[in-house]
Amino acid sequence: MARADVIVLGAGIVGTSIALHLAKRGLSVVLIDRGPAGEGTSYGNTGIIEGNTIFPQVFPSDWKALIRIALKRAPEANYHLSFLPRVAPWLAAFRAASRPERVMETAEFMRPLFTRAVAEHEALVAESGAARYLVRHGWLKLYRSDAAFAAQARELDVAAKLGIANVPLDRDAALALEPSLAPVFRHAVHWTGAVSVTNPLALTRAYAARFAALGGIKLTGDARTLHRVDPSWSVDTTAGPVDASDVVVALGPWAPDVLEPLGVKLPLAVKRGYHRHFRAQGNAALSRPVLDAEKGYCLAPMEQGIRLTTGAEFAARDAAPTPVQFDRLLPSARELFALGDPVEPQPWMGSRPCFADSRPVIGRAPGQRGVWLAYGHGHWGLTLGPATGRLIAEMMTGATPFCDPKPYGAERYTQ
Ligand SMILES: Cc1cc2nc3c(=O)[nH]c(=O)nc-3n(C[C@H](O)[C@H](O)[C@H](O)COP(=O)(O)OP(=O)(O)OC[C@H]3O[C@@H](n4cnc5c(N)ncnc54)[C@H](O)[C@@H]3O)c2cc1C
Repeated sequence: MARADVIVLGAGIVGTSIALHLAKRGLSVVLIDRGPAGEGTSYGNTGIIEGNTIFPQVFPSDWKALIRIALKRAPEANYHLSFLPRVAPWLAAFRAASRPERVMETAEFMRPLFTRAVAEHEALVAESGAARYLVRHGWLKLYRSDAAFAAQARELDVAAKLGIANVPLDRDAALALEPSLAPVFRHAVHWTGAVSVTNPLALTRAYAARFAALGGIKLTGDARTLHRVDPSWSVDTTAGPVDASDVVVALGPWAPDVLEPLGVKLPLAVKRGYHRHFRAQGNAALSRPVLDAEKGYCLAPMEQGIRLTTGAEFAARDAAPTPVQFDRLLPSARELFALGDPVEPQPWMGSRPCFADSRPVIGRAPGQRGVWLAYGHGHWGLTLGPATGRLIAEMMTGATPFCDPKPYGAERYTQ
């Protein structure tokens, strides 16, 4: 039986960052995943490290948008009808958390993590030799109508108060930044402080390699074998059982598979999302990720091609993929940018692990000594992986955490 100080379950960007932070602090750490590092949700995101984020995604307040979604005509969202009864309580909580005063509260709770997001990646990138995957050109949000641009005035106001860098642009100024875009929009905002990643899988792999270089061990195993062997925890791996007094559950959308049998039941839902890479036609190119705000998709330049990513799909995590949003949004995407042939035969699908209040859970598991939680990062797991890694490592080693972890505690659901 191998023994470590800490077992980290899940080698996505969150678990890998945690394992690396713990190893940097001198702990012996075993990182366990059923597959190689970075091949879950962390594989397929848009690659934006968006420390600029202020407000969370909200439940639509506009009836026209809701009707479009209900009629399955919206490019930005899709759902499986049979799943709605199951997700209804979560949706009700999400709607309640979308009230303006709650959204502002979320913004305040999340700011300390976002403030550190880019700097924490930069620190890990520097020591992992992964600087080549980071692009420091910010990201661009496009607005096709004056109304949509006006609707985010509050975000720009708050950004100004918080000193978050952005440059509102007219169409010509945006086209000067991204000459391959077609002039089908009227306004843009350039969030200059955001950083983008040209290969999110390679980034997680680089952090995993750094973890290994520090003496960390990555093993293959099924996290669902976690069980108590008093006073420790044990997990079965292909190299045999591993024991540790502390275990961190960083399984993203799969966390409930391990936690619910232990009686830790927190209301996680998934917002599924898809991507597909396309070749660019001719000399068309992008220097940074671009959001077509009213159409609800992103185009991001990746090593594999131009990655087109979709918004949310409410469906069971393990239900078969239904990438119908591509049919709805591809005409707009092709109008905006000269997309050529798709690179892969089928789109990739992932599941954003989301709590209704748009905050992750980071901290101790209620009622299970030695179990720590770090999951539910929703739309921002790539952004917040390293900041989460630092925060939980500081909590676990008794150091002063760089921010107050209370807003991320599981207790908000159990008390
Ligand atoms: C389309 C899309 C676009 C996105 N764009 C962005 C973006 O631009 N910026 C951003 O910050 N975030 C973005 N996100 C969100 C981000 O990708 C996720 O929040 C993040 O990847 C979650 O990371 P994680 O480490 O928690 O989970 P994961 O990456 O899913 O890692 C969980 C790991 O657990 C492992 N696992 C599961 N079950 C078991 C088991 N039984 N035993 C062992 N191992 C197991 C899996 O193999 C996996 O490796 C996007 C997401 C999607 C879907």
